[in-house]
Amino acid sequence: QAKADGRRRVRVFEEGLRERAVARHSLERRLRTALAADQLQVHYQPVVDLRSGRVVSVEALARWDDAELGSVGPEDFIAVAEDSGLIHTLGAFVLSTACAQRAEWARVLGPAAPRVAVNVSPHQLLRGSALVRQVSDSLGRHGVQAGALCLEITESSVIAETEACTRAVRELHALGVEMAVDDFGTGYSSLSYLTRLPVSVVKADRSFVSAITDDLESIHIVRAVVGLAHGLGLRTVAEGAEHESQVDELVRMGCDQAQGYLFSRALPADDLQDVLTHSFW
Ligand code: C2E
Ligand code: MG
Ligand code: MG
Ligand code: MG
Repeated sequence: QAKADGRRRVRVFEEGLRERAVARHSLERRLRTALAADQLQVHYQPVVDLRSGRVVSVEALARWDDAELGSVGPEDFIAVAEDSGLIHTLGAFVLSTACAQRAEWARVLGPAAPRVAVNVSPHQLLRGSALVRQVSDSLGRHGVQAGALCLEITESSVIAETEACTRAVRELHALGVEMAVDDFGTGYSSLSYLTRLPVSVVKADRSFVSAITDDLESIHIVRAVVGLAHGLGLRTVAEGAEHESQVDELVRMGCDQAQGYLFSRALPADDLQDVLTHSFW
């Protein structure tokens, strides 16, 4: 009986795996088609300066609404894109769309146009020279100054600190693009990379920010991140601010900027007009 149960468990387990593999394969196929048909979108989430209350930049976030699957979240499709190599096409699409949009904002808003931050996958960073070319092409094609673009790299990709990644970060910085470390505090941080790589911005991960009003440890972590970043001359952005009390705490800590649902979710560019010209204070 025990043996039969064991076999059944194995079979159920294998069927689970197979179903997941099939689902993943179908997701990959649909994503490939969607990318080719230009069916992905880019939404933008405001980042607010905690002194002025104004939107100083926006983060470009990929969105995918599939006709059959409905809306698929980046947490699901980015992994599929990375495993299948589609991340390079997806990354190029987001970069180019964000640059075109930033050029449009510059036309409409002049010097008040927000900077645009774009996420870069570790897989893109590993193909450094292709990425550097992509970025400089995108900036040139849309007439965007390099300083208006920020690229967010994850901690895990810089921790590996492979030759290729380090070189890519230096070359991107040399173009005049600003570099940010995303999801800071979630990896096994060897903090020393912050001094070796030309990054200017540290984004404290949402998991700490969302907990700063509930547990002391998170307060200490975020305060340490802000202190460390400022000590190294870097700017700090807090992700995932949902409540006023969290923002109050962030202001007390001297955190420079914040993004989160309290201010705004990521929205299509057309829905951002008002937010971009108004102050939250
Ligand atoms: P991320 O780069 O850390 O982006 C921030 C994520 O936090 C976004 O999720 C955003 O919608 C969410 N967020 C912001 N404020 C709040 C808040 O107050 N509460 C909550 N619950 N969430 C908040 P999203 O858009 O689902 O993206 C998830 C992740 O997928 C991103 O995390 C990023 O790592 C990745 N991603 C999204 N777009 C791209 C892309 O174009 N390229 C790459 N390589 N990765 C992307
Ligand atoms: Mg990001
Ligand atoms: Mg982040
Ligand atoms: Mg995050």
